[in-house]
Amino acid sequence: MATSDTFVIVGGGLAGAKAAEALRNQGFDGRLVVLGGEHHAPYERPPLSKDYLQGKTSREKIFAHAHHWYTEHAVDLRTGQFVTTLDRGAHNVHFDDGSVIGYDKLLLTTGASPRKLQVPGADASGVHYLRTLDDSDALRATLATISRLVVIGAGWIGLEVTAAARLAGVEVTVIETAELPLLRVLGPEAAQAFADLHLQHGVDFRFGASLAEIVTEDGTATGARLSDGTTIPADAVLVAVGAAPNVQLGEAAGLHVDNGIVVDAALRTTDPDIFAAGDVANAFHPFFDRQIRVEHWANARQQPKAAASSMLGKDVAYDELPYFYTDQYDLGMEYVGYVDPDGYDRVVFRGDVASREFIAFWLSNDRVIAGMNVNVWDVVEPIKTIIRSQLPIPASKLADVGVALTDLVPQG
Ligand SMILES: Cc1cc2nc3c(=O)[nH]c(=O)nc-3n(C[C@H](O)[C@H](O)[C@H](O)COP(=O)(O)OP(=O)(O)OC[C@H]3O[C@@H](n4cnc5c(N)ncnc54)[C@H](O)[C@@H]3O)c2cc1C
Repeated sequence: MATSDTFVIVGGGLAGAKAAEALRNQGFDGRLVVLGGEHHAPYERPPLSKDYLQGKTSREKIFAHAHHWYTEHAVDLRTGQFVTTLDRGAHNVHFDDGSVIGYDKLLLTTGASPRKLQVPGADASGVHYLRTLDDSDALRATLATISRLVVIGAGWIGLEVTAAARLAGVEVTVIETAELPLLRVLGPEAAQAFADLHLQHGVDFRFGASLAEIVTEDGTATGARLSDGTTIPADAVLVAVGAAPNVQLGEAAGLHVDNGIVVDAALRTTDPDIFAAGDVANAFHPFFDRQIRVEHWANARQQPKAAASSMLGKDVAYDELPYFYTDQYDLGMEYVGYVDPDGYDRVVFRGDVASREFIAFWLSNDRVIAGMNVNVWDVVEPIKTIIRSQLPIPASKLADVGVALTDLVPQG
């Protein structure tokens, strides 16, 4: 049945593009508007710190849809349109140029933005952040001309850029407050594998280090100074200290905000006509029985389908297990599940950690709650089945490569 409803999606990233696709696939034939603050059509961000940064993937390949897709599906994609105000009472959104669009249902896919550094020199030229295509272009041009890079933060993006820089022949020093890279996400047992990987590629880690300032000369970064007085010279600096959800619109409009826009399992906010998905959404997850905000590509691809169903009045509950991946040098990794830093009591390895071909399982009370496969492929589905079974599994069996993953729990 034809509808005269207008659905508006605020945020032209991957989640916004996937929501538009899902709405059309699910039969929505009303007016559909996607508003993106950036000047590009929606694109995938993972290549920005990997293949695209290394010049191995062309720009055309990173877009979520071919440019003609939007016209073919009657999606009114407006790039360079930053929404400044959400007026829930009047059911409309306002832009920075003063124009207004009304909506019947609204989806917020405003994503996240890099956390900014708060030290002297942080706004010097030569200090990079990495979130957008333009950021990646700027960083790529820089890597082609420099010989020394300082990376602040040993998280996923910091390490991926470190790998790209080392492959480009750039010397890299990574400054990290913790004692290992990725410590909060992986814990010490598995994080060590990433430290070893980068050490073997000649990366200079400064763990337990606190950054005091970005050293500058004539407004340009020339290095980083630690609080113990050590100065590390550099031709450029990458700041990769995490991202914060873009909640400002929702917050100002009085939606419930707590580490993201709070939504139920159907991706509905406290306003029945407003939904949220992707990096900005802190959604109730039925499997974990709690709110979770997932800042990963797979979530931005999948969750909007559920949000679209929900906008169309269908009864849904999004319960996909969080999944993410990384590529660094010759290491490819996938991770599925969810673990708080103190939410596990044991890590069991299966395979050969030293040669970086293994699976790590995080356990709580003998139950697997997350798994990470490193240079081992086609195992994500059995690992998901193991996690979902919530059955206790002896560590000896998990570690035994002679026991097939599919034999560890009944397959459903
Ligand atoms: C460099 C990089 C590498 C990554 N690599 C991986 C990886 O290897 N594996 C993985 O799983 N995940 C990875 N991620 C994470 C993944 O890319 C994100 O989870 C995903 O992009 C989230 O999509 P999103 O659409 O929710 O948000 P975003 O991609 O942040 O898109 C939101 C969009 O909304 C726009 N916007 C915000 N506010 C407004 C407004 N008021 N008006 C209009 N527009 C607005 C923003 O400008 C942005 O374009 C990576 C992220 C980055 C930055």
